[in-house]
Amino acid sequence: MSYFFGFNTPEEQKKIRKAALTAIGEKVTSFFWDIAPNDGFEMREGQQDMSFEIVDALIRDQHFAVEAGVGIGKSFGYLVPALLYNKKMEKPVIVATSTIALQEQLWDDIHIVMKLLNLQPEVILAKGQSHYLCHKRADEYMNLAGAVIPEELKSGVANEFQERKQFPPTLPQNIWDKVNVQRFSMRNCSGCEKKCLYYAIRSKLKNTDGIILCNQDFLTAHLLQIRGWQDGLINRETDLIVVDEAHNLDDKVRSATTERVNQGMLFGLIKSATNEVKAADRQNIYGDVENAKKSIRAFFDCVKTQMQEQITRSQQVRYADRFFFDGSEDSIALLKAMIEDIKSVAFSIQVYTSYDYSNRTTAASDELDTLSESLTEMIEQIDDNLLWIERKGNNAELVYCPKNTSQITSRLYFNGKERVILTSATMTNANCGTLADQYSYFISNTGFPTEEHGFLSEPKPSPYPYDEHSMIYFCDDLPHPTQEHEAFINQGVQRLLEVLDISGGKALVLFTAKTDMEEVYDTLSKLNLPYKILMQQPGSSQDKILQEFRENTNSVLLGTGAYWEGIGRLIRNFTDTGIVCIIDRRLRDDPPAKYHDIVWKSLPIKNKTNNLNELKEFYNSLPNISE
Ligand code: SF4
Repeated sequence: MSYFFGFNTPEEQKKIRKAALTAIGEKVTSFFWDIAPNDGFEMREGQQDMSFEIVDALIRDQHFAVEAGVGIGKSFGYLVPALLYNKKMEKPVIVATSTIALQEQLWDDIHIVMKLLNLQPEVILAKGQSHYLCHKRADEYMNLAGAVIPEELKSGVANEFQERKQFPPTLPQNIWDKVNVQRFSMRNCSGCEKKCLYYAIRSKLKNTDGIILCNQDFLTAHLLQIRGWQDGLINRETDLIVVDEAHNLDDKVRSATTERVNQGMLFGLIKSATNEVKAADRQNIYGDVENAKKSIRAFFDCVKTQMQEQITRSQQVRYADRFFFDGSEDSIALLKAMIEDIKSVAFSIQVYTSYDYSNRTTAASDELDTLSESLTEMIEQIDDNLLWIERKGNNAELVYCPKNTSQITSRLYFNGKERVILTSATMTNANCGTLADQYSYFISNTGFPTEEHGFLSEPKPSPYPYDEHSMIYFCDDLPHPTQEHEAFINQGVQRLLEVLDISGGKALVLFTAKTDMEEVYDTLSKLNLPYKILMQQPGSSQDKILQEFRENTNSVLLGTGAYWEGIGRLIRNFTDTGIVCIIDRRLRDDPPAKYHDIVWKSLPIKNKTNNLNELKEFYNSLPNISE
């Protein structure tokens, strides 16, 4: 039931809403000034300001963005008004994050705030689908002739485990990948819904009026659906959304709007969709299927040739995963022909499956239809899309996404009835100028509204003593990383070894290019170093490497991409210490490269040196090291 009743004029509804929000504001005050201190909670100024400002933004009907430094307690800062809003307005509230660690932390925080406020909303934690067991897939896999069935899987299934975290960590990830929930669609679930936790969660999300804790991918998928006039994944009554770790939002939107197609996947989808047509009708679509297969083959032969040519031309891209799509007249003609033929076959299959009232599944034909629409939309607006090729084993796939993600983010997040609260420890790119200047990078990436529809909050600084606990070492004497690449790698490795000598290993080394990482790994592994060198592995083996890195405290882990997030933060607790080394001369102190000032200003650590002796002295003086 909603808080507002049907017969009020819009003006009266606004007044009622404002009064309700003012009442929420009073409760927020009493929480921070009475309830929490009486319960022994130490409240922080930035946290309280953030809560009050959120209520102010809601009263003014604005979206809200705040950079809240590590340690100010930002989760309480937004959970208090969000839980009070949920109670008063009787509407669901979504809280979305981007890491599983924060989701689990928030689960605990929500329950603490609920207790303090004496509230009992339903709280639903919806982790990504790959965290849950699919009983149907597990049954199918375990009944496969010759399947490897580890004891951990057998006993976990027998014990009715539902989540990955219930199974022992020793269950190999590649086995888990075969039995977890994948490409969930309620229409594909039959006969196993009652015992399936993930199905229960997805069903509850549609009707709950409580608090939904999910990830940004799921929230983005939901918004894409409801902005496209579909049902959505979460109760559509929701009108308040909190996005934590919001510095990731444009990336999440980009990956949600990125599509990949390859020959094997298209053939498989067409085959599954064809099987949904009654056997007697299949001969009628045979011609369309054959045409589509022919043009798919022709297009992907061309894509593969392009990839091979690039590999032959340059040794540098021999191990690369991504390649240019040349966009020549010939390849565009082949792409257009393929899309036309996919469209025809998808249409024919839709016609025959919709005539069939015998209640057969149409999951694959629907998927083919959606894909055909996406491809058609892309080719009609090809200049607004980025297209590239990715290596997939020995084959190649075509990947495409819209060029302008900020327009899409803005349409999804800021153009609906929902008001959105965005926060993160890193949202600004400068610490002076107007607030619009300070948040300019975030604004340009997300299209956050800066006029009357958006409230930019004064950044709340972290209370952590960054400059006492950490130091940045920057190199100003190395060759240029791209212009003198080989010399850069050779001298960069030597410099890395000097730094690792100071720290005795214990390092996470991040690269922007996978090829560089592999080259450095090869060099380091051949040296007889007193610490172990680990390198991130593709997909499933990643957890094992991370575990080894955590357990072997002197080890050195080399990584790219996702490693920048989640495990890449140096300061998490008040007592954490460490050094950050930037082995790239473009950040040297004096001659300004393009983003020189912006990068330095946005880093919270101001204590920096380009002198290795100074770095060594600082490192050895750190409390955790010298004790
Ligand atoms: S309900 Fe769906 S997701 Fe759950 S076990 Fe069955 S098929 Fe798998």
